[in-house]
Amino acid sequence: MKSQIKARKKKIKEGLKEEFSRIREKLGSPPVLLSYMVGEDPSSEVYRQSIRKKGEALGIKVVFREGSEEGILEANQDPSVHGIIVHCPREDFLRYSSLISPQKDVEGIAPTNLGKLMRGERGPVPATALSVMELLRLLNFPLEGREAVIVGRSLIVGKPLFFLLLRENATVTVAHSRTKPLQKFTSKADLLVVAVGKAHLIKPSMVKEGALVVDVGINVVDGKILGDVDPRVGEKATLTPVPGGVGAFTPYMLFRNFALILREKIEGKTPYSPD
Ligand code: NAD
Repeated sequence: MKSQIKARKKKIKEGLKEEFSRIREKLGSPPVLLSYMVGEDPSSEVYRQSIRKKGEALGIKVVFREGSEEGILEANQDPSVHGIIVHCPREDFLRYSSLISPQKDVEGIAPTNLGKLMRGERGPVPATALSVMELLRLLNFPLEGREAVIVGRSLIVGKPLFFLLLRENATVTVAHSRTKPLQKFTSKADLLVVAVGKAHLIKPSMVKEGALVVDVGINVVDGKILGDVDPRVGEKATLTPVPGGVGAFTPYMLFRNFALILREKIEGKTPYSPD
């Protein structure tokens, strides 16, 4: 599966490169993505650098800026900034994400964009949720009438994914830290998506034979990257790899959102549907 994912990633990258080159032509200069840091958040630094490197390879100008929340409001008004990513400590996420202009919100986390997702309207959607959908398409997993269970209800993964899977006519259950017992729900899933952040939480006994298990988790344990799913699950179900699974697509889904935003700006219409 890893080589299949790699090949798809390459295709997505090529498509985006072409798309951003068309956008650049229309704008007359490279599109500018602002990576804005509010407060201290060292864990965002690596992510930021990686977005800059990948974005610049697509012809996007990624600008770093640090400051207080006023800076977000200024960037909303600044015509030279086309898209904004805000990095902040976890506890401030709700406050700062709600300040981002929906027209510049490449992460799809502004209240208006989350509302659009719920209403089934086009708009930027949190990249990790889009990435899971991309993986399901790659694996030709039919969703209609299937039983999907998501473990994790965060605003950037579990909740947006709920709406995307629902849109594809799956019957969706969202389990979380207070679900009891977790196994009762996970073991009935044809599709199990796990986005928790606890290494190897899901054991083989919790999974239905022949299911598809999408492991979103990224946990660093003793210098190794581990998923939320015990690899032995792969003996009875199809299990997506970590690393090199969902995470392979995530940054490119962010750039897809950026392209959508830029197209809306340039053409006033959106030929791209996020699902
Ligand atoms: P989060 O901490 O915001 O949310 C975790 C969720 O897991 C919560 O909704 C909580 O209710 C649930 N949970 C916690 N303990 C549980 C338990 N014992 N049983 C059932 N549910 C439980 O995390 P997040 O930002 O959604 O990220 C989840 C994981 O996905 C992390 O490992 C993160 O690193 C990873 N992630 C990966 C990508 C990617 O591209 N692959 C992108 C974003 C996040």
